[in-house]
Amino acid sequence: MTSSEDIEGLIRPELKAMKAYIPIEPTDVLSQRTDIPEENVIKLDGNENPYGCSASVKKALADYAYYNLYPDPEQRELRKALEKYTGISSEYILAGSGSDELIDLILRLFVKPGDKVINCPPTFGMYPFSTEVCGGKVVSIARNQDFSIDVAAIKKAIDKQTKVIFIASPNNPSGNITPEQIILELVNIPTVVVIDEAYFEFSGSSVASLVPKYANLIVLRTFSKWAGLAGLRVGYGIFPVNMVKYLMKIKQPYNVNTAAKVAAIESLKDMNYLRGTINAIIDERERLLTRLSQLDCMKVYPSQANFILCSVLNGKAKAIHEGLQKKGIFVRYFDTPLLNNCLRISVGKPEHTDTLIAALKEIC
Ligand SMILES: *Cc1c(COP(=O)(O)O)cnc(C)c1O
Repeated sequence: MTSSEDIEGLIRPELKAMKAYIPIEPTDVLSQRTDIPEENVIKLDGNENPYGCSASVKKALADYAYYNLYPDPEQRELRKALEKYTGISSEYILAGSGSDELIDLILRLFVKPGDKVINCPPTFGMYPFSTEVCGGKVVSIARNQDFSIDVAAIKKAIDKQTKVIFIASPNNPSGNITPEQIILELVNIPTVVVIDEAYFEFSGSSVASLVPKYANLIVLRTFSKWAGLAGLRVGYGIFPVNMVKYLMKIKQPYNVNTAAKVAAIESLKDMNYLRGTINAIIDERERLLTRLSQLDCMKVYPSQANFILCSVLNGKAKAIHEGLQKKGIFVRYFDTPLLNNCLRISVGKPEHTDTLIAALKEIC
C-alpha cells in the first residue's frame, strides 16, 4: 500500500524547502482571535479600501443575470473598458484573478527551473514566492537606504539565465516610486521588466504609455486597492502584444470570474464616486503622516500609496504591534534584516487615524 511517506517523496523538494508566504487574515478571524467584535476591528494591515466599492457595483452584481454561464475567455468587454480607462488599446491588455495571478503567469511563461528572477527587497512578497513555486532562483538586489533601486547592482547581477526583473512602483511597503528615468535604464537590459503599479491611483505616476514602445516592458495594475474590490480578485496588465498572445494561451480559460468582471466594469463607470474616495484616502494619508511624525517613537517615510511605513525608534515595534492588536487595531509588522522594527500602516478613514494615534500615544 502507498504510504504518505511515499507521497512526500514525490513532492518537489524545492517546494518542501521553500518558506511560506505570510498572508493577512480576514476581519472575522481577527475578531475571534482577539475577542473584539468585528464592527470594532480597525483593519489597517492590508492596504484595502475602507470606503468599500461603489454602490452601483453592488447593484450591478445583484442585477446580473448570467452567473450560470462561463465568462468570456478573451475578456473582451472588460479589456475594452480598460482600454478606455488606460488610453491603451485592448490588444495590449490582459486581466487576471488579481494581479497576483498575472505575476504567476508571467513567471510561468518565462521561468524554467534554475532560471533567475531579480527581486529588489524590501518589497512585495509575491515576487519571490511565485518565482520559487515556478522553480526559479530569486536573486535579491537590496534597495538603497532611501529605498531607491540599485541599478548598477542589478546590471551586474544579470546573466544569461536572468529572465525577469520585478519593481513595485510605488513600492510596497516603502511607498516610494521608481522614476521613469530609472525604468528606461532597466528596459535596456535584455530581460522582462515588470513595473507593478498596484497603487497607481494614489501616486498618479505611471509608465503604462511606454509599454507599446518596448518589447520587454510590462505594467501591472489592480482593482484591489483603489476600487475596493480586493475580495473579488481582479487585476490587469499592460503587456507587449506578443506577450498577450502567449499569456492568453497559457492562462486558465475562465480566469476572471463573472462577478469580478461585472464589478470592475461598473467601477470604471462610476469614477466620480471612486475618485472621491481616492482623494479622501490621499488627504488622509498626508494627515496620518503628519500625526505619526509628531510621535517621538516613529521615523516615518513619505508615501505615494495608501499606506505608510514607520520605523520604530525605541525598538519596540513588536510590542506596539501587539499593544495595538489588543485594542483591535491591526497593522503590518516587519522584522526582517532589511526591515527590522518596522510597521506598515494602511490609510483608513479619519476616525481610524484618530483612534490609532490615541492608542500609539498610550503605547509608545
Ligand atoms: C496588493 C498588491 C498586489 C496584489 O494585488 P491583487 O490584484 O489583489 O492580487 C500586487 N502588487 C503589489 C505591490 C501589492 O501591494
